Formats: sequence, structure tokens, C-alpha cells
Amino acid sequence: MPEITFIVDELQDAILVEDNQDYRLDATHHLRSVLGEGQEIGCARPLEIIKPPIASPEETAERTSVRIAGYYHNSLTEGPGRRSSVLFQFCPLKCKGCYVPQLHDKKSGTSVSVKRLAELLLDSEYKRDGVTILGGEPFAQTDGLFALVKELRKQGCPHIVCYSGYTLKALIEKSAKQPLISAVLNEIDILIDGAYIESLAGGAGLWTGSGNQRVIDLAATKQQNQIVLYS
Ligand code: SF4
Repeated sequence: MPEITFIVDELQDAILVEDNQDYRLDATHHLRSVLGEGQEIGCARPLEIIKPPIASPEETAERTSVRIAGYYHNSLTEGPGRRSSVLFQFCPLKCKGCYVPQLHDKKSGTSVSVKRLAELLLDSEYKRDGVTILGGEPFAQTDGLFALVKELRKQGCPHIVCYSGYTLKALIEKSAKQPLISAVLNEIDILIDGAYIESLAGGAGLWTGSGNQRVIDLAATKQQNQIVLYS
């Protein structure tokens, strides 16, 4: 059954209307007549994706950087509460029907130091409950991803969500050769895992794109030694 989600954004005095399947045209007209003319947003996130500033020579000289497509604030659909989010550039998975194919290419995007990126994501001009890292595939840049989550914590970030097209099991297996994957999993709060499966898009749940993806509470999972979903 098609679902429509309404999120009341008190801070911006707005209502976010999200549907996992296109709802019918007459429903759209009806919503407009009740709520007024709307503003379309991209994949349930703010339309404006901010490009990071060109790195200074000092930043370029820093050893740790990540390649990103951009970042934005005030996302209400990528984890609990209000999020500042960053889109990592590059994804080797290339899921059929991926809604961000522009993020697949390794060479596109901009390289930014993790220190600068953490400052931008934690900009005090914006309110947030935490930071969300998505892409692209964040774990395709494991060194930079680890450095970013450490820097975010250092700068006081209270909550971190990370998406991955790999399942938690696959990430744990990969960590045998890349120990920093485990280090990231130990540092973040929520992992939203699994590739996008187009045929399961209609069954997508909270903050996910397809029904196979899971929102995993990593602290509880570690404590109970079994997968615990966020509730
Ligand atoms: S993992 Fe995400 S970014 Fe990568 S191809 Fe799949 S849907 Fe697209």
C-alpha cells in the first residue's frame, strides 16, 4: 500500500511530505489545496547541496582528506531528528536504479580536509541532532571516513549515522584486511546497511531506500552480540 509521511518542521515552519511511491495526481492536488503550494526537494533532502570551498595550500598539505560531492543542513530524513549530511563521492557498487549515479565516479567531486569538513558540518549557525555520512559509498574511502568520524567527535558531534551499500556482515569481513572499518563501526551510532534493490523500493522503511536495508543500532548490537535494529 502506498505510504505518505508527514514531518512537521517546527524550526522552519514547514511540513515535509514524503512518499516512497509516487502518490496519485489527485492526492497531490488535494494536498496543495490544503497545505498550499509546495517546494520540491531532492530525494527528501534540501535541494541545495553546498559545495565545499576550494582547499587552501595548508589544507591540501594535510594528509587526511575525503572526496565529497557536497554537504547540506536541515535534513529530516537521514537519521533521527535534524541532520547535517555529507555526500561522499565514489561508489563501486553501482546498484541498478541508484538515485545518485552522479556520485559513482571516483574523479568527480572535491577533495576536502576532514578538519575543515567537520567544521562545515558542525557550523553553529545551524541546529542539528547529529551528522549523517552517505554517498556514494563512505566505506570506499575508509581512511578518510575514519579520520572524519574522529574529527567530528573531537569537535563535539553527539551522534553519527553512516550509510553503506555493504551489509554489516560484509563490512566485518572486509575489516580483516582493513581494520579501520572496525574502528569506524566502533565510533558511529547507527549504520544503515545494504545495497539499494530497485524491486524492493516499495517496501522501504524509515530513512531507507529499499526494503532490504536495515537501520542498525551499533552500540546495542555490540552489547547484545546480535543485530539490534534502531527503534
Ligand atoms: S550503494 Fe548507494 S550510492 Fe552506491 S550504487 Fe548503491 S544506491 Fe547508489
